[in-house]
Amino acid sequence: MSGSATNIVSPWMTDDVIMLQDSVRKVLGKEFLPHREQWEEEGIVNREAWLKAGEYGLLCPSIPEEFGGGGGSKAHDAMLAQEVERAGLGGGFGVGIGTHCMIAHYILAYASEERRKEWLPKLASGEAIAAVAMTEPGTGSDLKAIRTKATKVPGGYRVNGQKIFISNGQNADLIVTVCRTGDDGSKGISLLVVDANAEGFRRGRNLKKIGLPAQDTSELFFDDVFVPDENLLGSEEGQGFYQLMNQLVWERMLCTLGAVVSMELAVEHTVEYVKSRKVFGQAVMDFQNTQFKLAECKTQASVARVYVDQLMQRLLDDELDPTTSAMAKWWTTDTQFKVLDECLQLHGGYGYMTEYPIARLWRDARVLRIWAGTNEIMKVIVARDL
Ligand SMILES: Cc1cc2nc3c(=O)[nH]c(=O)nc-3n(C[C@H](O)[C@H](O)[C@H](O)COP(=O)(O)OP(=O)(O)OC[C@H]3O[C@@H](n4cnc5c(N)ncnc54)[C@H](O)[C@@H]3O)c2cc1C
Repeated sequence: MSGSATNIVSPWMTDDVIMLQDSVRKVLGKEFLPHREQWEEEGIVNREAWLKAGEYGLLCPSIPEEFGGGGGSKAHDAMLAQEVERAGLGGGFGVGIGTHCMIAHYILAYASEERRKEWLPKLASGEAIAAVAMTEPGTGSDLKAIRTKATKVPGGYRVNGQKIFISNGQNADLIVTVCRTGDDGSKGISLLVVDANAEGFRRGRNLKKIGLPAQDTSELFFDDVFVPDENLLGSEEGQGFYQLMNQLVWERMLCTLGAVVSMELAVEHTVEYVKSRKVFGQAVMDFQNTQFKLAECKTQASVARVYVDQLMQRLLDDELDPTTSAMAKWWTTDTQFKVLDECLQLHGGYGYMTEYPIARLWRDARVLRIWAGTNEIMKVIVARDL
């Protein structure tokens, strides 16, 4: 990597990605950042913003042009994820569009040609918003224990069950829903795309959270919802678990990219702060404790950057395996939280005030150790391969 957090140029970035990075940065600052406070107060990023994101090509950069996407690669998605974090929009807007684009890839990879043509252009334009619903009140880590049931009926399925903690849950039009279609453990799991307009589908509360105030996170209820056969992802039932495992590599990579940018930003903001803050007649930066803490934080952020850039290249070369992505997810997000906590401490009371960027970074980082598979589950995956 060259430059600072304000000028990230990684080895995996091609010239077109670098060129796009500049315009994405400007658009985020001008068109989206000014609305952050409103979204945080309302607990949701409004439709207008989603449509605007679609107009600017921010929703599906790596989906082929024939389906309305940007025709780029995962490098474009990664650059966008980093820029959104860097702009201070990672917490709400970033999670929303990152999740949405990740789900577009489920549809690209597993939906029928007809459904791809119908859904992907709408996802790219922001006309439709996507969510993925795995977690249930009774189970999160143990995906094989899900109870939402899809019962075969003529022409489709009847879905009954409940999901919780679903990102984009209030906004979503298309919900990739993890359902049980058979009794046989992981082989009895299938992904069905539920249309939010279908009879029997209901949204619960927009859940109040410690962080990510602009992100809608919801309960979802399915009461005998009819889902047509064509909405099954994959050519036959029972492929859901493997489809999820394939796509989760990218979800974990998104966590690592966000984590590394937030560490870089935290160090930058903190260096600036401690140089200007005077205590006992000297700058906070002049205490050796501050220098050592920041030297450690900077080192951790730099090591994480090299590691994540290398993994990004492996992902682009189609060589990133699930175990390595699990390793990266737990380590970068654990390290991120330690770095952010040290940086917040160096701000004193100001670090606890949300008008200071470090407070937002710290608050919004906590969830990264929980979602996309908890960090304990990541270690279970790594340990299995030892
Ligand atoms: C803000 C937010 C957004 C989310 N968005 C989505 C979404 O869009 N879609 C979705 O489907 N889900 C989403 N989730 C859910 C998230 O993926 C789950 O919360 C997570 O997988 C953990 O599941 P759980 O909450 O049921 O915890 P549990 O599985 O009950 O785990 C409780 C504790 O036990 C530990 N544990 C579990 N199993 C083991 C084990 N084998 N060994 C050691 N320790 C273990 C866990 O690590 C954890 O510490 C979101 C969650 C949050 C907070």
